Amino acid sequence: MAGALSSRGCRRLRGAQLKDLLKEKHCVLFDCDGVIWNGEKPVAGAPEVVNMLKKRGKSVFFVTNNCTRPRESYVQKFLRLGFKDVVQSEILSSSYCSAIYLRDVAKLQGKVYVIGCDGVHKELREAGVQFIEDDAAVPGATISDCPLESDVRAVLVGYDDELNFLKLAKACCYLRNPDCLFLATDRDPWHPLRGGRVTPGSGSLAAALETAAERKATVIGKPSRFMFQCIASQFGVDPRRAIMVGDRLETDILFGWSCGVDTVLTLTGVSTLEQAQAYRDSLAPEKAICVPDYVVDSIADFLPAL
Ligand SMILES: [Mg+2]
Repeated sequence: MAGALSSRGCRRLRGAQLKDLLKEKHCVLFDCDGVIWNGEKPVAGAPEVVNMLKKRGKSVFFVTNNCTRPRESYVQKFLRLGFKDVVQSEILSSSYCSAIYLRDVAKLQGKVYVIGCDGVHKELREAGVQFIEDDAAVPGATISDCPLESDVRAVLVGYDDELNFLKLAKACCYLRNPDCLFLATDRDPWHPLRGGRVTPGSGSLAAALETAAERKATVIGKPSRFMFQCIASQFGVDPRRAIMVGDRLETDILFGWSCGVDTVLTLTGVSTLEQAQAYRDSLAPEKAICVPDYVVDSIADFLPAL
């Protein structure tokens, strides 16, 4: 199987092939960071690509593991960076989808204990999911003497740049109850910052809690299929007529593979062509499923085909 995949992956998309591919696909899913922007800088040509795709009648969705913003704030960011007509329903973030999961799939009765940030809190509030926003903890409080609430039915862990030991310890105590759900927004290990620095991602916090709780979290973000299920159920998208464009092999490309969607790696973000080719040439099945079908230097490569 790996061999069969090997011969197919990492095809360079140019001119006529790109045109044919876009003719075949009705729906384009984009990751955001490293694909259509890097921080506050749009990838050159990205606003035009998104605009042209929509003009050609394609459905466009933005599927991001970045849980730090609520969707309304993404709409503002799109506008600020020159994307003129992106609407909230086209944006699926791991915080929004976590809220949808808790409300519609888990049908949670009780509260969620959240390790997270503003983006997570706002989406939960919007979805009407009750949660505990921790917590300017009482100075000097420890896990031995701090109060715990009795109606916590789920723990959700996402990006939290104010994570502390007490939060982790409380989450761990709630998870002693086997009926308490354990969710993570995503498993992203780290994110690039300017100047070569990095910040740990939600995945690193989830891993700490998984170790302490001796349980595995249900992951909402890519590469889990749930975000695609949200799109497919709301908008009736056929995976065979969709394409996923991303910059990270282990999240975006694996997500596409898991959902039966063709994948394009764009080289404006985290993963490199060399990594993709090494995965393609490897015989390990867990690497083969992270090999993109196609590669472009940037999504601006789409422009001539539009
Ligand atoms: Mg990315």
